[in-house]
Amino acid sequence: MTEQNPTIMLFREDLRIQDNIALTCAVERGSKILCLFVDDEKSLFARGSAQKWWLHHSLKALERELQNKMDCPLNIKSGSTQEILHSVIAACQADRVFWSRRYAPHQTATDKELKASLEKIGVKVVSCKGRLLAEPWETLNDGNPYRVFTPFWKRMKAHVPIDQPLPAPKSAHGMKLPTSLSIEDLRLLHSNSELCASFHANWQPGEAGACQRLQQFFVNGASNYSKGRDFPSLSSVTRLSPHIQMGDISPRQILFEATRQFELGRIDNKNYTKFYSEIAWREFSYSLLYHFPSVTDEEFRPAFKHFPWQDNRAGQLAWESGQTGYPIVDAGMRELRQTGYMHNRIRMVTASFLTKHLLIDWRVGMKHFWDLLLDADIASNTLSWQWVTGCGADAAPYFRIFNPILQARKFDPDGDYIRRWVPELSQLPTSHLADPWLAPTDILEDAGVRLGETYPYPIVDHAFARVRAMDAYRGLKTTPS
Ligand SMILES: Cc1cc2nc3c(=O)[nH]c(=O)nc-3n(C[C@H](O)[C@H](O)[C@H](O)COP(=O)(O)OP(=O)(O)OC[C@H]3O[C@@H](n4cnc5c(N)ncnc54)[C@H](O)[C@@H]3O)c2cc1C
Repeated sequence: MTEQNPTIMLFREDLRIQDNIALTCAVERGSKILCLFVDDEKSLFARGSAQKWWLHHSLKALERELQNKMDCPLNIKSGSTQEILHSVIAACQADRVFWSRRYAPHQTATDKELKASLEKIGVKVVSCKGRLLAEPWETLNDGNPYRVFTPFWKRMKAHVPIDQPLPAPKSAHGMKLPTSLSIEDLRLLHSNSELCASFHANWQPGEAGACQRLQQFFVNGASNYSKGRDFPSLSSVTRLSPHIQMGDISPRQILFEATRQFELGRIDNKNYTKFYSEIAWREFSYSLLYHFPSVTDEEFRPAFKHFPWQDNRAGQLAWESGQTGYPIVDAGMRELRQTGYMHNRIRMVTASFLTKHLLIDWRVGMKHFWDLLLDADIASNTLSWQWVTGCGADAAPYFRIFNPILQARKFDPDGDYIRRWVPELSQLPTSHLADPWLAPTDILEDAGVRLGETYPYPIVDHAFARVRAMDAYRGLKTTPS
């Protein structure tokens, strides 16, 4: 029997060995296998500094898992994927490449070109599902993409099976390139050692960390998910987003386990359904990104192209550094800076503040989040920013302007979240935490707060900002698009 040519498994945003269809298919072929990761960042959507830290540790975890569970090395390269694949193929005579599909416009264009160039030299490319429960072309409405979430989700629920995830392949005849780099050679770690220490304290990138977090959620958060997910100081959410983004865990693994817990009666229908719907929002964002690729930098609703965004550098800096004078906004922006994560409710409040209170272009906020979020995801970040701004598909109406004072009172009723991230206000009574500028002087003094010195006055008045934003929006409606 003649030996088959080797197979290449190209890892990208699927850094796991369980439920990795591409990896399983590559191994099942039975030939020698070369597991490869190429650090090939195009400048347009280059990973932010926070996410590079995650990538480093996720790669370390993948390397360990491959070695320990499959006796297979991970090869690392840096540069143009196309050039590297061609030279690796020339060196090892591989005749097949497996990868998990990607959906952002620059990624689909790159992958198409790559596939054509490999097929030209007789190498077959096998692309597999891995990042989504349903491919964007599988959830259509009479052949057209959905623009509204609820029918999209109804269709998904009715037609997309949640199959049992695949186990990790048992072993493989792995190959090691003599020219492989080490993960350290990619220099992905952040230069700020304090920030790295904070990331370490809060996160465990990689497959094992993801599975642990998922199980913790079913013990701690899932039974109160539907309500608790709005309260940033509660542990009611999974915090799985950075793992999902890097592919440490698949959405199928998550939903299969949630469905199992539901069937065992460990979570009720309300919490299960809400959780499923949030996973479906991610799928909806990917569907929009795939079918309307210009949304990465253009508004889904063309009328917003004429919106009178303001150039407000001082406002932007205050927002970015958590010094707006609105404690709930500042708490969120500081949580982001210090942990690489921000709770969903607070993402909405801070994004609304930037685009509506300060009239700063949503793209400015999107870029800032992109650099600091460990879970920065081109589909969810872009479409969520557009949703809050009111310019996206099925978006919150523009006139829904989050009131940062009421949001704080409603969703941080005991002030735990604000006290944690804005410690200079921690001694204030809860009744004054949402709007410290209205607190009597003696109460401020007792709490050690000197407005304008230890904590800023609001950079813009809420009532004024609301009227100004509504005026800008009304003007927009009369502008032809
Ligand atoms: C302005 C803004 C920017 C955002 N940017 C990102 C981003 O870059 N990356 C990202 O993953 N999410 C983003 N989101 C969506 C959401 O805030 C996060 O997915 C969520 O907070 C992650 O926390 P979790 O894993 O604990 O969520 P959970 O509540 O535990 O939800 C489980 C999973 O469902 C998905 N999910 C939940 N809510 C949403 C949502 N509203 N939209 C899309 N998917 C959702 C995520 O994959 C999440 O990990 C953004 C939201 C806003 C308002």
